[in-house]
Amino acid sequence: MDKGHISPAIEVLEYLVLKKMAGRPEVLEALIEYLGGSLPPSQANDRYGISKHQLRGFVQRINEKAGDRRLAEFLIRMATPLILSMVQSKIDRSKRPEVCMICGRRLVNMFPEDHLKKHHYEYLEEEVRKVAAELKKAIAARRKEKTYVEANAKEVSIGSVS
Ligand SMILES: [Zn+2]
Repeated sequence: MDKGHISPAIEVLEYLVLKKMAGRPEVLEALIEYLGGSLPPSQANDRYGISKHQLRGFVQRINEKAGDRRLAEFLIRMATPLILSMVQSKIDRSKRPEVCMICGRRLVNMFPEDHLKKHHYEYLEEEVRKVAAELKKAIAARRKEKTYVEANAKEVSIGSVS
């Protein structure tokens, strides 16, 4: 992939997929809850071991990548559940130092996300591609459903006073 022409949406997906691959599904779970309004930042640490500053940092990074807050929120809502179910963790975080399950390397003084990006970019790219394909399907299905609901609502309102 030509990184110079990567779309903002794909950049956000890559960021989210990388978190799951790095064995940090709790970040994604926290993001969903936070956006849904059921996670006050002050409770992120108790529930997910993420400080409120970190949580806000994640949201900010995603907003920056998306370049648009609404796109960022839309992607988190739609893509994160897909990523949680589709993407496998590739870092064994129970080990110290953490171990990459793709190449077996021990990650001494290295962030798992950086290792995966540097050494397994093709794998990451492939996961992002799969998630993007599923996301497209989910968006199409949602549109269909919305059209259906709107059509029904129209039918119901016909003949009524309003
Ligand atoms: Zn590796």
